[in-house]
Amino acid sequence: MIDKVLLKNEVERLDIMLDDTALERFDTFAEMLIDWNSRINLTAITDPFEIVYKHFADSMLALAAVNVPQGASFIDVGTGGGFPGLPLLIARPDLHGVMLDSTLKKLMFVDHVLNRLELNSNGRTLHMRAEEAGIKVQLRNRFDFCFSRAVANLRELSEYCLPFVKVGGTFVALKSAKAQEEIDGAKEAIKILGGEITEVKQFFLSDMGERNLIIIKKVSPTPPKYPRASAKIAKEPLGLPKTK
Ligand code: SAM
Repeated sequence: MIDKVLLKNEVERLDIMLDDTALERFDTFAEMLIDWNSRINLTAITDPFEIVYKHFADSMLALAAVNVPQGASFIDVGTGGGFPGLPLLIARPDLHGVMLDSTLKKLMFVDHVLNRLELNSNGRTLHMRAEEAGIKVQLRNRFDFCFSRAVANLRELSEYCLPFVKVGGTFVALKSAKAQEEIDGAKEAIKILGGEITEVKQFFLSDMGERNLIIIKKVSPTPPKYPRASAKIAKEPLGLPKTK
């Protein structure tokens, strides 16, 4: 199905080593993604070569951008078909991940993959909106890391994501080339939510364009009034002056 040598070599350049079990799991995952995608809309990327780069290697940039200790916990907010969460668990089966999304059918796919790859003791799905999950005590301030790709602009995304992260933990937003604009519009909100941008790491995956991973440390607890309801998040952008 996929070119396993290509995947292995690409991620080795990021200092990520994949063993045979991981490579087999990636292969099965790609097969399942293409198969399920013919019935439910999971991704526009269905070419095995592109899956290697745009889904698998791209997701693993998170592991290249931050040092993720053995056994760490993470939540993947808006995981969709399992990105970046599933590749992270395949590459690092010592991690514990929750893959959250508001679309049940996508999570049915993620559950199916977790079972088939025998990663169901490491990962689980959560069918909820981020802004509803983020007010629950059992999920708030619980995770060492939060990862999120292609879900919302950084300002809104920070309100979805930072509440989940423990103080001392890290939120990593996987973004494309226009990261600076988003950072400028989100700085104040991130401060209000208890975060601090510590670094922006730039990557180029062979001809696949620029990727920017924004690393945000949680430096103080998120005030209890956040996250707000989704309508409010959209209507009253955090950290910007109110418009009439
Ligand atoms: N992260 C995946 C990826 O990079 O391929 C999926 C990206 S897809 C464009 C955005 C996903 O975010 C969708 O599956 C959508 O259901 C989910 N989503 C958007 N807003 C959300 C929210 N407030 N709470 C939970 N999931 C959300």
